Amino acid sequence: MPAHIRVRFRFPPDRVRKAAAPRTAGRLRRGGRPMRVAIEPDRCVASGQCVTLSPTVFDQDDDGVAVLIKEQPDVPERESVREAIRVCPAAAIAATD
Ligand code: SF4
Repeated sequence: MPAHIRVRFRFPPDRVRKAAAPRTAGRLRRGGRPMRVAIEPDRCVASGQCVTLSPTVFDQDDDGVAVLIKEQPDVPERESVREAIRVCPAAAIAATD
């Protein structure tokens, strides 16, 4: 770079990196954005597949209708929730991921 050109940083690069690192590290530790699960009880046909696949997230009430135990599953539970969504015969489960 020619000597007469001076690059000016608004913030010193080391300060920028320090400011961004904790937010990124925290997001990665939590597994990215949280997953939110919802059930449409009127559609549920009480088959119980969701409870079998993901018993820490789903349960059934006295009539067999699925109820949520945990609206925001932890990272290790998410794959079983996705599988429950795939196999639910009534398409009564939805999740944002
Ligand atoms: S798999 Fe679907 S239909 Fe079966 S209990 Fe769960 S939500 Fe209801």
